Amino acid sequence: MVDALDLSAVAWTDGDIARFLDRRARLLRWGWAEPEAEKLADRLARRDRDRDERVSCTDCRHYRPGRCGNHRRAGLNVAEVGRDLAAMLQRCAGFDQGTTA
Ligand code: SF4
Repeated sequence: MVDALDLSAVAWTDGDIARFLDRRARLLRWGWAEPEAEKLADRLARRDRDRDERVSCTDCRHYRPGRCGNHRRAGLNVAEVGRDLAAMLQRCAGFDQGTTA
């Protein structure tokens, strides 16, 4: 006998899909390669569904490609933010939800 599959646990909502597409498009505009943009957008969609409180610079209004406009509050010594850090889920004291691009 096959166990019933709880689709609500695996199926994306319209909101999940919209956020995925928005993030993917933003990352592509910022010059990310499509596989990396999709990978991070997917990871962030799953993060949202898991109610994980960690953030990504790519969702922060202080982030510009390669730079943090709030690096002192974030505890960084320099403003430069590489893609690896931007893609990392982290807790940041300087994070503000929202992007300008
Ligand atoms: S404030 Fe924090 S989350 Fe926002 S861009 Fe700077 S380092 Fe990233």
